[in-house]
Amino acid sequence: VIAIRNLHKAYGNLEVLKGVDITAPAGHVVSLIGSSGSGKSTLLRCANLLEDSQQGDIIFDGEPVKWKGTGLNRRPADHAQMIRIRTNLSMVFQQFNLWAHMTILQNVMEAPLTVLKRDRAEVEDAARRYLDKVGIGDKADAYPAMLSGGQQQRAAIARALCMEPKALLFDEPTSALDPELEQEVVRVIQALAEEGRTMLIVTHDMRMAADVSDHVVFLHQGVIEEQGAPGDLFTNPQTDRLRGFLSATL
Ligand code: ATP
Ligand code: MG
Repeated sequence: VIAIRNLHKAYGNLEVLKGVDITAPAGHVVSLIGSSGSGKSTLLRCANLLEDSQQGDIIFDGEPVKWKGTGLNRRPADHAQMIRIRTNLSMVFQQFNLWAHMTILQNVMEAPLTVLKRDRAEVEDAARRYLDKVGIGDKADAYPAMLSGGQQQRAAIARALCMEPKALLFDEPTSALDPELEQEVVRVIQALAEEGRTMLIVTHDMRMAADVSDHVVFLHQGVIEEQGAPGDLFTNPQTDRLRGFLSATL
């Protein structure tokens, strides 16, 4: 379970998150939608402590992040806790961020070996299993540049899975892809949802949000404007802002 309570985040005097509450219960998929600049990526980055926040709580499996300092000086106080939370919330980015000089297999194995210091043979087994799972087992020895965008993104998902995280965070996983490649990534995310993975997904793809989510949150200028089950939110939006957003995106 990831719980975010009253989270505030500013860059200098630009307030980006103004008291956001989100809960992603174990086994649930929560999608985050909203206009460009509404704070979606910032929220994900705050959730896994890649970014500092100034106020509010982040609670992971009942364990609140410990802070030192206040306001713009607030930082995670416990380095071990920070690493534990970060490795348990694996992030998949829009731009894959694979290492160009490593093979796909090496990319997937890298963090479990260097960050988690796991056994190499076990990690290789797991890495191959996850590459098979996302449908690119035959690309283990290829370099990222030799793969299509959809294959690279699936490699990035395998890399995230190989950390054996408790939850996955996706930041626009399909936005960099051509429509036909998008679908192969959506199918992988769908399969992960069906096996009960906890996921927080930022997306512009309303169809994916509708298909995979248990809950959808609409963020507007750093505030949750509306949220609900996808069946309600997409078919019966309550606010003018969400209606406007949906008619502009669909
Ligand atoms: P998009 O849909 O375009 O990805 P988003 O909802 O993910 O948008 P964020 O990237 O979270 O939006 O950005 C929210 C606001 O914070 C924007 O106004 C952005 O310019 C600002 N911002 C983001 N990162 C930084 C940064 N490192 N320094 C200063 N301002 C930033
Ligand atoms: Mg973003």
